[in-house]
Amino acid sequence: MAKVIAIANQKGGVGKTTTAVNVAASMAATKRKVLLIDLDPQGNATMGSGIDKYDVDATSYELLIEDKPINEVIVTETTGKYHLIPGNSDVTAAEIKLMELFAREVRLRKALDPVRDYYDYVFIDCPPSLSQLTVNAMAAADSVLVPMQCEYYALEGLTALMDTIKKLASVVNPDLKIEGVLRTMYDPRNRLANDVSEQLKRHFGEQVYRTVIPRNVRLAEAPSFGAPAMYYDKSSTGAKAYLALAGEILRRRDKHLKQAS
Ligand code: ADP
Ligand code: MG
Repeated sequence: MAKVIAIANQKGGVGKTTTAVNVAASMAATKRKVLLIDLDPQGNATMGSGIDKYDVDATSYELLIEDKPINEVIVTETTGKYHLIPGNSDVTAAEIKLMELFAREVRLRKALDPVRDYYDYVFIDCPPSLSQLTVNAMAAADSVLVPMQCEYYALEGLTALMDTIKKLASVVNPDLKIEGVLRTMYDPRNRLANDVSEQLKRHFGEQVYRTVIPRNVRLAEAPSFGAPAMYYDKSSTGAKAYLALAGEILRRRDKHLKQAS
């Protein structure tokens, strides 16, 4: 049974897409079957997976709005060895069309049903807003992974985001969990980053991943080569950090399953 993880933060530029692409590739490299869903009209996760967003047959728009069967929307040949549901500017229209539809919050959850038994992990790259698209991601997900930069005011933003997630969850998905908080673009020489990181651990405890994603130019360069960092420069600190994150996600799941049984 797939574990569905939404990667969300209403702030742009915090590393959601970078995390989505690289954690999907890292998880696929551990021989898990992985699906990445690009719900952002910017289509950056699509391009970063080596798929031309201007040249796809269908996107998450057709999945959400036109009831196109999920198997007809999935692209299987990505550079990251995972499957992809592409996104591009067509997805902007989904936002508006969703408003007119019945049971609009659970369109993605329903659309995923036929493949839940096939995949081990489904990652959803959310747009930088708490729109209907993000609501659909939260309704479909088992948990939310929140990437954040350790900068001034980050904690305030995060507390507000956590409250919003809780409120949303109580309406559309009461079982939704916080998968974890991920520190991204981290520079250990930056004193403020260290301070914020310490506060974060005090506030959110175990929810903060031990794995930290460093600021690494290879992570920023890889998308222009249409590949996750591990297929662009596998020895880079960025590629290694995301492999470590995949390991941590797997270990957490094992632990939770053990506690549950
Ligand atoms: P979001 O999806 O939250 O808007 P992105 O993943 O697109 O954020 O990241 C924003 C920008 O920062 C992109 O140009 C990306 O390449 C860059 N970036 C993301 N993570 C890192 C990192 N760890 N080190 C260096 N650059 C990064
Ligand atoms: Mg993004």
